[in-house]
Parts: sequence; C-alpha cells; structure tokens
Amino acid sequence: MENAIQQCIVCDRQQAVGIAICDQFICYSCEQEMVKTDVRDEKYLFFIKQMRQIWLKKNA
Ligand SMILES: [Zn+2]
Repeated sequence: MENAIQQCIVCDRQQAVGIAICDQFICYSCEQEMVKTDVRDEKYLFFIKQMRQIWLKKNA
C-alpha cells in the first residue's frame, strides 16, 4: 500500500497515514480520536455526521 497524500473527510487536512472507508479517507489522528470518543460525546455526533455524508454521496 502506498502512502499517497489524501484529504481526510473529517478534518479536511492532507494526510498520508490513515484508513479508507468506502473509498473515503480518514487520517490516523481522526481515526484514533473516533476510537476513543465516547458515543455520548458531541464530537462523536460530528464524526457520524461526516460519515453519513460519505454514505449519502455514495448512494446518490
Ligand atoms: Zn483527519
């Protein structure tokens, strides 16, 4: 797997390390933050919102 610079869909920053979900890129730091964010945290809702946008785009 090559480390191409991609734009993170959560923080909008250009990052090389991260994961791809449904062809969309989430950088390592956002992924780590998501993992440790409590579901009751409003930040988690932000992540979900960003993710939903991906799915909506994908199913459009
Ligand atoms: Zn990010």
